[in-house]
Amino acid sequence: MTLLSSLKIPFQIGLLDRDSLYIETYNLWWVTVSVLIAIFASYAAFNASSRILHCYSMIEKLIWIVISSLTLGIGIWAMHFIAMLALNLQCHVDYDHFLTVISIFPVVLVSGVVLGISSIKPIPIWLNSIFLGGGIGLTHYIGMGAMKLDSGDISYNPTFFALSFIIAVLLAFTALKSKGKVVLFGNKNIFGAIIMGVAAAGMHYTAMFATYFIKVYGVISLQNHDLERDNLFSFVSLVAFFVALTSLTLAIFSRNKEIIRDLLKFDSQNKEIVKSLFESDSQNKEIVRHLFESHFKNAELLSSMSGLLNSIAEGAYGIDTQGNCSFVNSSFLKILGYETSEEIIGQHIHELIHHSCADGSPYSSDECQVYNAYRQWKNIHVTDEVFWRKDGVGVPVEYWSQPIIADGFIKGAIVTFSDITERQKYENEIKKLAFYDVLTGLPNRRLLLERLNHALLSSQRNRKKGALFFIDMDKFKLLNDTLGHDMGDLLLQQVAQRLTSCVRESDTVSRLGGDEFVVMLENLSEHMNEALKEVENFGLQFLEILNQNYQLSVHDYHSTPSIGATLFDGLEKDASELIKQADSAMYQAKSEGRNTLCFFGGE
Ligand code: GH3
Ligand code: MG
Repeated sequence: MTLLSSLKIPFQIGLLDRDSLYIETYNLWWVTVSVLIAIFASYAAFNASSRILHCYSMIEKLIWIVISSLTLGIGIWAMHFIAMLALNLQCHVDYDHFLTVISIFPVVLVSGVVLGISSIKPIPIWLNSIFLGGGIGLTHYIGMGAMKLDSGDISYNPTFFALSFIIAVLLAFTALKSKGKVVLFGNKNIFGAIIMGVAAAGMHYTAMFATYFIKVYGVISLQNHDLERDNLFSFVSLVAFFVALTSLTLAIFSRNKEIIRDLLKFDSQNKEIVKSLFESDSQNKEIVRHLFESHFKNAELLSSMSGLLNSIAEGAYGIDTQGNCSFVNSSFLKILGYETSEEIIGQHIHELIHHSCADGSPYSSDECQVYNAYRQWKNIHVTDEVFWRKDGVGVPVEYWSQPIIADGFIKGAIVTFSDITERQKYENEIKKLAFYDVLTGLPNRRLLLERLNHALLSSQRNRKKGALFFIDMDKFKLLNDTLGHDMGDLLLQQVAQRLTSCVRESDTVSRLGGDEFVVMLENLSEHMNEALKEVENFGLQFLEILNQNYQLSVHDYHSTPSIGATLFDGLEKDASELIKQADSAMYQAKSEGRNTLCFFGGE
């Protein structure tokens, strides 16, 4: 309550008597117009914002950002304002001019972020929806703050107040998600625009449901000036309609200019075609001839290009600035398990082949690196993602995405990729060879040193002690000489298994070479005596377990180890010095007759 009252939002907590409230009625014609204006403005703003990606210079981008944010902002604001005017109460309603004007800013600002900034630097869709829903809500409630009743007060039901924001965010999410993706009447912006308009209206009418218009008795209400209200209504509708129409015209004009420039650029013959198309339609025969000539030329060019694309081993595909696939080559089909290119062309390719990360978690198209090529105008190279085959299997890929720029406009991106399953397998094997012992699968000296350095740093931080055991099997040469090297190998593998089985998950058992093993324990007690006790217990356990008979093929064999141990505490000693200490303790064990445990320093 204190927070709410400090925000100066008049919330009504208890129930109110119906007689103490003004009855709200709406002029349905105005309500309809308000929603249509929001839809039309959203459609115009979506068209204008799609121009941003096609601009080279930052100034041009900025101009389209301003156009699209003003169009959407003014459209949604007008929707609210007209809807307020459509409301009939039995008292006179006036508007604070300053607050009414101010209320336009939040929605214009968030439109700039959602339509403009996010097409240059992608913002997650959920964040955009919160911005947009929040902005629409703020505009509405500032607009409500501007409302003055001559014989009444306004207060809100807090639940519906919160619900109105939630509805705005959810509908904004649906609108942004379907923008440019769902095709309605052959157009990709209409469906998103309808949802956007409904989002603004949905927010408004839930918010109105949250509003109580409370009668103040004893004040005589003046008549409403319907004429004044009608004029205001017409003025706001016309302004919003005009702004949306202008920005839509500008967007269409800019797109046509781009198409004509492309055509003119293509070859000089097309110049004539375009000219004749624009000048008259009496020369249709001539136009058809030109089109045929140009078509054969294009077909030749296309067939040599597709021959080239189909001959490369890498998969390749093209996307337009909406993220839809424009072509694929035959390696694409082979790698990702498709039969024909028709299955892919025209589809939103991210949803088809790039929808999830390697671990199966969703990968939003707003963050998709492939699209950054045309969003950020740069070459992208990625080596750690997967594309998904038609049968649902993930294929690790390395890919390059490059923007396609023609005549100063961005057209989309071209992506080439290779399947790196085999390469990853080899890389993993090489990594394994570099850090693990082939015979036992245990970490080797290099990995032990790495882990030991790491353990010393943690011990420095958490003050816990650690220990190293140097274990060398006794008279191992004798086994090799009597039963053969293979039996020796079997014994080494069993020693590795036994040691691993009696340490904790976080400890390291490594093989340095020959019959030498090093075990590293971490997180022992902070107190010397307790840590020594723990080390002794582990050492005795190693002695016991390695003393048990080994089954080496048909031979039942007995062997023993000599074990040297040393403690470590933070960074007092470095890794190689600690290994030397454990090694010298092990030699002491050998000299004391083998099959025993000795501590470095004689403890
Ligand atoms: P000590 O009791 O003093 O340790 O004597 P030892 O016979 O165990 O001799 P030492 O530890 O010095 O020698 C280890 C032997 O292990 C030397 C080498 O021939 C043998 N060896 C080294 N690598 C392998 C291997 O991968 N497999 C087998 N089977 N033997 C190996
Ligand atoms: Mg030995």
